[in-house]
Amino acid sequence: MAAITRFSKPLALSHIRRCLCSSSAAAAVSDESNPHVTSPFGNYKITRRDPSERNVQWVFLGSPGVGKGTYASRLSNLLGVPHIATGDLVREELASSGPLSKQLTEIVNQGKLVSDEIIISLLAERLEAGEAKGQSGFILDGFPRTINQAEILEGVTDIDLVVNLRLPESVLIEKCLGRRICSQCGKNFNVASINVKGQNGNPGISMAPLLPPSHCMSKLVTRSDDTEKVVKERLRIYNEKSQPLEDYYLNKGKLMEFDLPGGIPESWPKLLEALNLDDFEERQSAAA
Ligand code: AMP
Repeated sequence: MAAITRFSKPLALSHIRRCLCSSSAAAAVSDESNPHVTSPFGNYKITRRDPSERNVQWVFLGSPGVGKGTYASRLSNLLGVPHIATGDLVREELASSGPLSKQLTEIVNQGKLVSDEIIISLLAERLEAGEAKGQSGFILDGFPRTINQAEILEGVTDIDLVVNLRLPESVLIEKCLGRRICSQCGKNFNVASINVKGQNGNPGISMAPLLPPSHCMSKLVTRSDDTEKVVKERLRIYNEKSQPLEDYYLNKGKLMEFDLPGGIPESWPKLLEALNLDDFEERQSAAA
């Protein structure tokens, strides 16, 4: 379904950066049409480019543990656009012991969302660093998380496609509890072996564990917010704050729903097919 656009000219990330960065500082700047309404972006407006002239700008939605990071990262490698996960930006900030670190630790460990102001400033910083390295386009994972964030994003750039990954809640909890990260290479693994029987006409789901190579085995760590209590709270907050985004993007005609049929071996080829990317590599080499 998705209109996959080809890439040539870099997206003006500096515009996004200016827009995003102005979000906190510009809280007092009035909206042009109504001097009493403040705009998070002040008077900045991004130059909107035709999708055929720039890299893809996609968003991945889905509950915690659904696999947004896995599939967004694979697509980022395939398409050559950065995968930007705001959860990773938050964890980097936590690890840096910077000024925000203590405040963020409490919020993240309770499964709550950090403020729009903080998340937008972290995202702006990431986009600017990417732009300096010549990156353009993006696959956003974990942003937007609220209607307010979506409206802010919509105010500065055009999102081409929103992919909503779906799995039953019981699978999501098992997946989060089985998630492990190699503290050295940063790669994600999963020790859970999932076998959920089909119900009410829906097919069952089986997912084999995604085990690390032997050199990562002794360095595996669990995310501090992947405890059962916090995962349940994150799912509750997702349903309350993030699920409305599905309707928001559905109404804009940008939403692609994708029910994951199982683990990576079953899901990846089907996702590529749904995105019209199943023969992408052949098309690229033919065009080269
Ligand atoms: P994730 O890895 O996407 O599950 O994110 C981990 C944590 O980072 C979340 O539970 C939130 O506390 C925070 N976070 C990540 N992205 C956002 C966002 N867009 N808005 C608010 N908080 C976020």
